Amino acid sequence: MRKNKEGISIGSDSKAPDPEEMHKQFLMRNIDIINDIFKVLYESPDHGNKLDPMDELIYIHLSKKTNEKGYTGAFDRLSVAFPGWRDLAEADHVYVKELIASAGLGDRRAEELLSNVKEVKKRFKTVTLDPIRSWPEKRIFEFLTGLNGIGPKSARCIMMYSLGKKVFPVDTHVHTICERMGFINRGLNHKIAQEKLAEMFPEAYRYSLHVNMVAHGRKICKEQGGPLCDICYLNKFCYYFRNNKKNSIGNGPKVVDVFCGSGGASFGFSKAGFEIKLAIDNSIKATDTYYLNHPMLTFDEVHTGDIRDFSDSFLRGLVKEKVDLLIGGPPCQGWSNIGKNHTNGNNGKDFLEDERNTLYIEFVRSLDNLKPRYFVMENVPGLLTAHDGKYAKIIQEDFRNHEYESEIIVLNAANYGIPQNRKRIFFIGRRLDGREQSGAAQQDLSKIIDFIKEQNTDGRRSFREDVAGLPHLEPGEGKNVMRLDHNELQGTDRIQRSEENILVFNHFARRHNPRDLKIYKLLSEGEDYLSFSRRTETKNLLPYSNQSFHTKFRKINGNQLCCTVISHLSRDANSYIHPDDNRGITVREAARIQSYPDGFIFLENGFRQFIQVGNAVPPRLAEIIGNAIMEVIKIRDD
Ligand code: SF4
Repeated sequence: MRKNKEGISIGSDSKAPDPEEMHKQFLMRNIDIINDIFKVLYESPDHGNKLDPMDELIYIHLSKKTNEKGYTGAFDRLSVAFPGWRDLAEADHVYVKELIASAGLGDRRAEELLSNVKEVKKRFKTVTLDPIRSWPEKRIFEFLTGLNGIGPKSARCIMMYSLGKKVFPVDTHVHTICERMGFINRGLNHKIAQEKLAEMFPEAYRYSLHVNMVAHGRKICKEQGGPLCDICYLNKFCYYFRNNKKNSIGNGPKVVDVFCGSGGASFGFSKAGFEIKLAIDNSIKATDTYYLNHPMLTFDEVHTGDIRDFSDSFLRGLVKEKVDLLIGGPPCQGWSNIGKNHTNGNNGKDFLEDERNTLYIEFVRSLDNLKPRYFVMENVPGLLTAHDGKYAKIIQEDFRNHEYESEIIVLNAANYGIPQNRKRIFFIGRRLDGREQSGAAQQDLSKIIDFIKEQNTDGRRSFREDVAGLPHLEPGEGKNVMRLDHNELQGTDRIQRSEENILVFNHFARRHNPRDLKIYKLLSEGEDYLSFSRRTETKNLLPYSNQSFHTKFRKINGNQLCCTVISHLSRDANSYIHPDDNRGITVREAARIQSYPDGFIFLENGFRQFIQVGNAVPPRLAEIIGNAIMEVIKIRDD
């Protein structure tokens, strides 16, 4: 089977994936951010565990099957009665029992405790576990689990908390969370789960995952009373939550998104009431982000693979229901170059056969196979102007040959409440039913265009309005997961912000070299380097002519629209200099300019995150188009 450059199988008719298994792999691919979320939320508390292994042996032994107040009290009384545990080996059983009785512990626990202390004394001549510090892990584990009442979980707690070993203890909280999130299969016997999980996580994360999962289990992912999934920051990573979400979704018109990327378009169409049934993209970096942010979908609905390798029957088999709408923005080098390259032929045949346009051809093949009633295809405006729009006409003619009437609309995101000058063209198509004449389809398309235009807000939003509330950062500051200061949120009107919203994602500022920082500082808001050099006497700070790279440096005017957010941001942010902080904008700021809600999390490294944001259809714009198509669907259904 062929694999793409990311190692993903792209064989055409590969076996349908097991969604639960794929979810498990997804969790492990993204364990870094899961660990970060836990860490930022709970700050790795020590839960009162002890640094001395003998203390920890007694503490952990007392904590089994009792409550925190009870066992911490019992430990404190014991440690006062037997300082340094020296005399505990000779202590009277009844006295020890009395000291631990208020924790609900009785004869048996006192007996086990005393026998363990005696065993330690016999082995090391004094009541200390210090000698085992230098033992290999396996030997420590065998020794501890050989003691009375000390099982694998307790042994690993002692090893982790007081001996600094990189092991992973699994208590009931950890087991429950790992099962609900989908790291292990449901209903797995505790002992087997314990052994599996002990090996599963990277060593570096074991401590923080354990202590923070225990905290999460006590506060949010509760056993008694049930988990509080709606306020859980991990919910989109959690199989249990996603499963419930899937079962609760409505019954909207069905959508397939080919070339889905990280999912800006799907996200917007979902908000308009559509139900995504299938999304396809060749890059697992993009589909992981897509999957995370569409929690109603399972991995057999988010497909990573090259659509060119899917046979017609395989493609049809991926969707069980009738498809109402196909969306996608096929990347087409051939199109984007047509303004510069005049080699395409005159009759359109060359254009359609151009290797570089094969993904457009895949879009049309998807129409043929899935036969949706409507489609929306996004592209760059250059397609309309180059060669007097000849290629746009060829495409429309091609759609007609495949029984679709289409209209083209040019939308500037700025007119729809998005703080960005971003012009894109959308081909909106409607299938001709049976012998239907094109008139009815044209009428529907006109209505859709009218409904889109009706949503034009006219009121322009500014960069500052939409990034308000995000923490100010110096170059190199910020994190992929960080805590928000609530005070800074006052007065903002952005969606998805509330008192509960304490985390912000993907907000880290890249570092810049001293020369760039100097230029950033010198530029005024809205100014590019050429205008700057014309208005000042400053000698050219660039190692090349500033004429040829005059727009390379541009500071955003905070009170106006931002320029188009594009994936070039992954290389440098010189054209997106923050108006108030001396640095390029962050992924989260770019995402806000693209109208993504703060809850939409971009996975992968910063470089990839910028590509995901820059390549997307702004969700709000997709929602506008979705609303319009939905209106027409409703009129037709009535
Ligand atoms: S979403 Fe619910 S079940 Fe899943 S980890 Fe969070 S609280 Fe637990």
